[in-house]
Amino acid sequence: MAKDWLEGVDEEYDVVVIGSGLGGLTAANTLAKLGRKVLLLEHHYQYGGLATWFKRPGRHIFDISLHGFPIGMIKSCRKYWTKEIADSIRQVREVRFINPQFDVSTTFDREDFTKIFIEKFGISRERVEAFFEHLRQMNYYDRDNRTTKEMFEEFFPGRNDVHRLLMEPIAYANGSTWHDPAITYGIVFSNFMSKGVYIYQGGTDQLIGRMEAEMQKNGVTLRKNCLVEKVHVEEGADGPEICGVTIKPRTGETRTINCKAVVSNANIKNTIFELTGEEHFTDEFIEEARAVRMNTSSCQVYIGIRKGDSIPDIGELVFTSDAEEFSSEELTNFKTSSRTFSVYYPETRPQNEVDRYGIVASLNAQWADWKNLTDEEYTAAKERLCQEALDGLEKFIPDIRKKVDHLEAATPRTVKHYVRHFSGTSFGTKFEGLKVSMELPDQIRGLYHAGSVGIIMSGWLGTINYGVIVSSKVDSMLAAIQSRNSTSAS
Ligand SMILES: Cc1cc2nc3c(=O)[nH]c(=O)nc-3n(C[C@H](O)[C@H](O)[C@H](O)COP(=O)(O)OP(=O)(O)OC[C@H]3O[C@@H](n4cnc5c(N)ncnc54)[C@H](O)[C@@H]3O)c2cc1C
Repeated sequence: MAKDWLEGVDEEYDVVVIGSGLGGLTAANTLAKLGRKVLLLEHHYQYGGLATWFKRPGRHIFDISLHGFPIGMIKSCRKYWTKEIADSIRQVREVRFINPQFDVSTTFDREDFTKIFIEKFGISRERVEAFFEHLRQMNYYDRDNRTTKEMFEEFFPGRNDVHRLLMEPIAYANGSTWHDPAITYGIVFSNFMSKGVYIYQGGTDQLIGRMEAEMQKNGVTLRKNCLVEKVHVEEGADGPEICGVTIKPRTGETRTINCKAVVSNANIKNTIFELTGEEHFTDEFIEEARAVRMNTSSCQVYIGIRKGDSIPDIGELVFTSDAEEFSSEELTNFKTSSRTFSVYYPETRPQNEVDRYGIVASLNAQWADWKNLTDEEYTAAKERLCQEALDGLEKFIPDIRKKVDHLEAATPRTVKHYVRHFSGTSFGTKFEGLKVSMELPDQIRGLYHAGSVGIIMSGWLGTINYGVIVSSKVDSMLAAIQSRNSTSAS
């Protein structure tokens, strides 16, 4: 008989978490530690969402989104996960930028960037300091409508090279463009600039394995291969409220589980329009939700180096481009020549018995360019991505083609297939998505969202922190229900 993926699951929970991205995992773990009864459901066959990995013959293992995050991850992981996880985070040794405008190698922190601006780009120290000070003072509540590009122009007028150095890495980190609000740039860039770029040593598989173990220890009921099809809403004393979810396991019976709260880690639009249904929200809210724009998606090329072969040290994060000038349009173009190489040396997984090397090329991409390709066009476009990535690598490692024994590409369609996000977005929504996400519980009591939104609540650190913020709100709501019930009982 086929396995029942929901076996052992109770009839009722305090909270159901839909999705096991870093936001969902963190919300589930935090709520369980607060004493809540939590069920976490993931439709995929492994936990982690976009914080994921896959294996291929030849003992290759590829990380999808393990490229770099700010130092704040150490504190968040120590506080909300475990010391063991926090202690495995280390700084990326060398970040490089190679394009027709400059060739720069940096530790990607404020001190080093200041030096580069002054010595390589001829900007005065005073100007650089003024820029950093401006970023430091930016505040989410200031309602400054300027775009990032306008801010760059104010501080470094006509300096496309400087704009490129500032924007390129952030565009890869969170899919933002220079047309997005300057505040989103300011927060994310300042986070990185505080102490450089960090990475999890041990690989994404080890990280998610440790998170799973921690959740089990804290009493979360976890089930993978379980798709949530519907979030149920009923009319309560004070308006609509959450009452349960319907789950379709990969094999086994479809079941409805009761709960008082749902934390959805699915995309905000999927949460509102597919899982819950617009009939439960006010017209005004639905209009606002419809207007939320998605962030960009990604293409990647996975390059496996044959067992026994090695490659020279070319840096861990290498931003490359053949474009004469930087623009957000070029960076997200179907035929962009801009790509980042994340190079995984044996130190990425010191636990491996044999030294292994792997390279992942990442490109920003737009869903619209990929969604309607015919099968033939799609296969050809993926092959082009693979060959162009190797062409780009040959500039650093001339004999790379001889060393490769696995090569494959992923596209926005791949992202959509695995995590189901609207428009295959890799980085959630544009800025306006944050407000819609935060206002969900005002529309339906008990409905929350913890996942990539608004650019700032995106990326590994942003989603972990958002998971914590949302769990605290859920916990307060559950405490209010408990207190109301005990008052009415007495
Ligand atoms: C190519 C790429 C590179 C990236 N690089 C970096 C990087 O270097 N640094 C960085 O900080 N960030 C990076 N990111 C972004 C980062 O990975 C994401 O922002 C973060 O992991 C998203 O977490 P999340 O909590 O929003 O959920 P997601 O990871 O988006 O996961 C959502 C989960 O919900 C599940 N789900 C959806 N619908 C349902 C349903 N109905 N039922 C059950 N389950 C459901 C999905 O399967 C998925 O597991 C990258 C992303 C991509 C794609």
